[in-house]
Amino acid sequence: MMPRQPVLTRLTHARPGSQELQAIADILSSAQKVVVIAGAGVSIAAGIPDFRLLGGLYADGALFENAAFFDSRRAQLLKTALSIRDRATEYEPTETHKWPASLRPKLLRCYTQNVDMLEAKAGLATGLGPRCDCVPLHGSLANLKYHLCHEAYEWQDYRRHIEDYVIKDCNTGDSDTEGDKDEDKLALPLPCPRCSSRCETRKEAGMRLLPIGQLRPGMIMLDEAHPEGEKIAHLARGDNLASPDLLLVLGTSLRVDGPKRLLRQFAGPIHRRGGKVIRELVKTSE
Ligand SMILES: [Zn+2]
Repeated sequence: MMPRQPVLTRLTHARPGSQELQAIADILSSAQKVVVIAGAGVSIAAGIPDFRLLGGLYADGALFENAAFFDSRRAQLLKTALSIRDRATEYEPTETHKWPASLRPKLLRCYTQNVDMLEAKAGLATGLGPRCDCVPLHGSLANLKYHLCHEAYEWQDYRRHIEDYVIKDCNTGDSDTEGDKDEDKLALPLPCPRCSSRCETRKEAGMRLLPIGQLRPGMIMLDEAHPEGEKIAHLARGDNLASPDLLLVLGTSLRVDGPKRLLRQFAGPIHRRGGKVIRELVKTSE
């Protein structure tokens, strides 16, 4: 007979050698299928500041809003994202980052709110494909993307474009020897090659032109819905159908809507099956 009452255990309250810690160890060893939701607290432990705070990844909040792609902030946005990405590559994953990978083959998937790529460094296959076991809920700094077709491109291939472009942008037109207005450059700094070539073909055929994708960091902006949210929802539905019996919530107070919805989506069925939800609230200097 399955227990009727859900068990919500907080790892932070479990002392070494305590009965509670033993109970958690027992839950972990008897669980068959595990889902993990990870948040900023996990990366704070690696030394990366909370994105909400000064010095954090998104400290310049006004820059990381969706509208910045479509106005004069775009160049600064790309340059800032590039420098954040460069900084993020210097950090090393913690034991908590490595934990989900160590749960294989029990791990169904880890859903992370972090964009710093440390789960990938810790050995998880990160992305939105069916074989990926780590889903970056807020995108990732791993790649650049084009905003219409979501094609991924390497930062290295665009580093010089981005750095040069920003230099022109900062000169506010005074040293603009090309004869173009800064406005023009801001409107179309790095058009998507795939969209551009499709557009060219249509132009030659006398067809209506389509919008061209613009280069953007692969992370999701603070005020933006995930452009590939349906893929994430599809993976989560599949994981739920696989009947997980343990949900680990690590380093997040789940104040953001997406992860909060995920918790509800997984926790309800897990509780009904008599499974467990363990929340480890890593302190997020709030
Ligand atoms: Zn494109």
